[in-house]
Amino acid sequence: MELTDSIWEIIKTNSKSLDGKVWYGVKSTKIFCKPSCPSRIPNKSNVLLFTNLDTPVQNGFRPCKRCQPINEIVSDDIWVDEINYILESYYDQNLTLAELSVLAHGSISHLRHVYQSKTGISPSEKLMQIRMDKAEILLQNTKRSIGDIGNDVGIPNNSYFIKLFKKTYGVTPHQYRVDRIN
Ligand SMILES: [Zn+2]
Repeated sequence: MELTDSIWEIIKTNSKSLDGKVWYGVKSTKIFCKPSCPSRIPNKSNVLLFTNLDTPVQNGFRPCKRCQPINEIVSDDIWVDEINYILESYYDQNLTLAELSVLAHGSISHLRHVYQSKTGISPSEKLMQIRMDKAEILLQNTKRSIGDIGNDVGIPNNSYFIKLFKKTYGVTPHQYRVDRIN
């Protein structure tokens, strides 16, 4: 179904007139919503329309916790999956907890509380784990400089990147690479 100006207007104004008939997914976060969802208006270019509730689910979209498009309360487990998907998609950017909470359609305090209670770590700690995993892969499989790799994983401050890497792996990124090659 095409995203016409009138449907876009309905999404922008949170009108309920198409609820139950049309759903929209946001490609960058893989969350789908009712047209009336009060969450932040997505970029129009990231929006996909669905006329059947099965389609977004089959395509890997997850229901929004806020507007609950499948008329079931989104469980905290599913929400944690959504948050992890967003962290995996945005780890290379400077992602604040406030931005994460907007993308995941929940308040900062609720998000932090649910995430910590389900996973035992904070969203920021998870983001750091993802960044360190990605940095390790880049060190092993590319010839990119340490500075570039830090930048690639969302930590442009090189001395901070080296410090975090050493804290995680016990050696500096340079030493890590030397050890793997020899
Ligand atoms: Zn929603």
